Amino acid sequence: MKPITCKVLILGAGPGGYVAAIRAGQLGLDTVIVDGQAPGGTCLNVGCIPSKAMIHAADEFEKAVHFADNSPIGVSVQKPEIDIAKTVEWKDGIVKRLNGGVAGLLRKNKVKLVEGWGRMSDGKTCVVKTDTGEQTIIAEHVILATGSEAVELPFLKFNDKVISSTEALSLSDIPSDLVVVGGGYIGLELGIAMRKMGANVTVVEAMERILPQYDAELTKPVMKKLEQLGVTVLLNTKALGEDSKQTGLKVELADGAENTIKADKILVTVGRRPKTEGWGLEEMDLTMDGKFVQIDDQSKTSMRNVWAIGDVTGEPMLAHRAMAQGEMVAEIIAGENRSFDKVCIPAVCFTDPEVVVVGLSPDEAKAAGYEIKTGMFPFAANGRSMTMEAEEGFVRVVARADNHLVLGIQAVGGGVSELSAGFALALEMGARLEDIAGTIHAHPTQSEGFQEAALKALGHALHI
Ligand code: FAD
Ligand code: NAD
Repeated sequence: MKPITCKVLILGAGPGGYVAAIRAGQLGLDTVIVDGQAPGGTCLNVGCIPSKAMIHAADEFEKAVHFADNSPIGVSVQKPEIDIAKTVEWKDGIVKRLNGGVAGLLRKNKVKLVEGWGRMSDGKTCVVKTDTGEQTIIAEHVILATGSEAVELPFLKFNDKVISSTEALSLSDIPSDLVVVGGGYIGLELGIAMRKMGANVTVVEAMERILPQYDAELTKPVMKKLEQLGVTVLLNTKALGEDSKQTGLKVELADGAENTIKADKILVTVGRRPKTEGWGLEEMDLTMDGKFVQIDDQSKTSMRNVWAIGDVTGEPMLAHRAMAQGEMVAEIIAGENRSFDKVCIPAVCFTDPEVVVVGLSPDEAKAAGYEIKTGMFPFAANGRSMTMEAEEGFVRVVARADNHLVLGIQAVGGGVSELSAGFALALEMGARLEDIAGTIHAHPTQSEGFQEAALKALGHALHI
């Protein structure tokens, strides 16, 4: 095949790569993007989107179970059933539509999509194994966007029974007994969904609490819901491997005793690692930052005209960080003066209840040397939350004590993921407590809790 030459080559069409490609196309740069799977990356194919589809299905099913169980709101139904095969088919349909959507956007912006696994042979050349043979691509600029993959535990290798999130999103049956190793983002999002769909779920977490990256106050309502749902949570517990009869998972409990937990499936969610193998890293002269490709605040690597974005470059491994970096790099290549100067990268955990973290927590703000004021408003005092049967949780605002500049906002509660946009906007715009308190928030909405938290920090909350 004749080599393709282009201005920009992007390796990986996940949210980082495909956004970089769309923006590069919009800016008139001759752009080629390479991926061995359908466009959209981990996020669209086996991550954010399919997991949220399964979580939604589980929530709908649980709602129906709750109605059948004599709901206080006067709606009753017969005992509901869930057909997981149909749920997975519905989820796959959404993924397919979005794959098509991304491919369409790439076409619209005149980006060439080369389907196949690529390997860099130097900082400018990529050889792609396509269905019709090897395609060489030579580019002026290369953007590495190869993403991440699930971490495998050496003593708990993936097989039919020991699975990663990818397999958990396409099960043909709901396991009767599911053990989740790792009580972080994926383990709790999917563990809760599986419990709602009927599995007996045990979460094995090595640390002293679930979601250890968040402050303890925020995770309490999630812990409470796990108890209500009947999920067993084993903290300070180490997974040791499958037991010899392969009926379950051997663990070392907090007190040092060993036990075996019955399991049809063992879902291992102990983190993700950057994908730095299989694409020719060893042929390049890239400086690494631990296991990640090192970048500066413009996503430049140590090689001229080689850029890197998304999960392969570091934490937080979130789709919206990858997208923001992708957009920025395309603009820099087109000659714009840009750098990654975001005040915050919001993080949302789609557990029940949901958790949102934007900017600094109270402890982080103190550790950074600030004297702070905080205001917390509970959803139990918010009318809209009562009408939604979602009274658990709160909004908390952290601000500088001297000038009231907002440093961080956190929330936990039903449906609070959608509040993350307002939180992030407040931080990016440099809001002070008075700005949030002085903005009319529509009634009745959960967002009033945000305004009230700011009022509370100022010492004059109205509804509590
Ligand atoms: P990826 O999305 O991993 O894309 C990399 C692409 O590169 C892949 O398509 C891969 O096929 C391709 N590639 C790699 N090597 C080659 C090669 N040699 N040749 C060709 N192509 C190659 N993040 C959120 O922000 N919100 C969420 O709700 C969320 N939920 C998640 C749920 C799950 C179950 C998982 C697993 C992840 C979730 N994430 C979520 C994380 C999110 O998916 C990642 O942060 C995001 O996908 C990273 O984007 P990326 O572009 O860096 O890489
Ligand atoms: P994670 O880092 O969120 O959680 C891993 C958990 O496993 C931690 O609590 C850790 O203490 C625990 N752990 C580690 N080793 C262990 C062991 N041997 N035994 C028991 N527990 C152990 O990782 P994840 O859940 O795999 O998710 C990976 C990444 O994907 C996240 O960090 C995040 O960047 C991204 N993600 C984001 C979202 C979202 O934004 N809603 C959802 C899913 C995934």
